[in-house]
Amino acid sequence: MNAMQISRKFRESDAGYHHWCAGCNRLHTLPKGRGWTYFSPGDGMSAIPSFHLSWQNERVCHYFLTNGQIDYLADCHHALRGPQPVPDLPEDYRDFEREVPA
Ligand SMILES: [Zn+2]
Repeated sequence: MNAMQISRKFRESDAGYHHWCAGCNRLHTLPKGRGWTYFSPGDGMSAIPSFHLSWQNERVCHYFLTNGQIDYLADCHHALRGPQPVPDLPEDYRDFEREVPA
């Protein structure tokens, strides 16, 4: 997937916005379109409605994204609850440092 870093905490692709989740220890993709509306894309962004992500073994990550904070809801499979700052992208998912002429 061709996703460009747009801020310290988010990447963007045609599919959506991507950020690191400290609860799941993985990158999450927030889909564009399909009913979601985004405000101020970047570190302070918000979106409605909430995101309900699920994958293998019925793992669930459910949260609101408001002003750059993730607000984890009670049905998450991991232990994080309530408002948490979106973590900075891990080094492997950053572009900025790599944008040097070859
Ligand atoms: Zn998660």
